[in-house]
Amino acid sequence: ILHELEQLREQPAKTADGYAVRLSANIEWAEELRLLRKHGASGVGLFRSEYLFLNRAEPPSEDSQADVYGSVARELAPEPVVIRTLDVGGDRILPSEQTSNELNPFLGWRAIRFCLDRPDIFRPQLRAILRASRHGNVRIMYPMVCCTKELKAANRMLEKCKDELRDEGVEFDENIPVGVMIEIPSAALCAELFAPHVDFFSLGTNDLIQYTLAVDRVNDHVSHLYEPTHLAILKLLQYVVEAGHKNDIWVSICGEMAGDPVLAPLLIGLGIDELSVTPILAPMIKDVIRKLKYSDARELAQKCMQYRSPVTVRRRCRELTREIA
Ligand code: PEP
Ligand code: MG
Repeated sequence: ILHELEQLREQPAKTADGYAVRLSANIEWAEELRLLRKHGASGVGLFRSEYLFLNRAEPPSEDSQADVYGSVARELAPEPVVIRTLDVGGDRILPSEQTSNELNPFLGWRAIRFCLDRPDIFRPQLRAILRASRHGNVRIMYPMVCCTKELKAANRMLEKCKDELRDEGVEFDENIPVGVMIEIPSAALCAELFAPHVDFFSLGTNDLIQYTLAVDRVNDHVSHLYEPTHLAILKLLQYVVEAGHKNDIWVSICGEMAGDPVLAPLLIGLGIDELSVTPILAPMIKDVIRKLKYSDARELAQKCMQYRSPVTVRRRCRELTREIA
């Protein structure tokens, strides 16, 4: 089976009736790029940049970040790399800057909240990403945004960094696409307000499920309640896709849900444009995509929106994946 899946490497991620889905990969380290080629994913849909910052005494310098981002961009070009700005806090503590004694760390000083308060850390990262953008197809993405005020503040900081680089005569992609992660219920429910400020949405379902169902994603006692096929989650996904497409914005999923082969038809049927998955899962997802008919995926999604129980949704999804296997 593995051999068969490997043969999919060169095949496009297209349904049996010709509907193209973008299949990209989530990475934490630049070294993982070779896995992309091996497993036939095109581009990086989520580069979790915080791994460059963890397990070291001080944040990495702008230059060293620019080197890493630039080499990833060069290696992937013309395929895109979506570099997510620093997402620390929650269970990823930046030891030199944060403490682990917040009462509700996942609701606390995390990701974009931390970055907007710490321009001394955020600005060098934005500059490094901009500098890397001339080497390939680089996109910026902000994590954990809960309101447009934050999004606008982040974009203002980005514009400032662009001005500086222009003054310094440093080249960068003037049209670098900017996206926002949709991983907080308020962002999902007001996605249309975010649309004018970005080029793409990427659904972080790991956090979106955690916050929507109030289930700590790292607490085993409540993990049985962590249900990606909960109707509340499906409604949010559907809403975000609609809001995105109405505004000519493409919509990706980069949470673990995207890498579940049983759920791929449902997500495609809901209109998701891109699935970004752990590299080793890419062949399995591509296999499902290539056997699937887009028309069946649409029908499946419509049906699933009618079911009351997450278990029924999953069962119906499993039936379809078995039928096409
Ligand atoms: C997510 O929340 O779904 C996501 C992709 O981000 P992370 O898992 O890094 O929080
Ligand atoms: Mg997240």
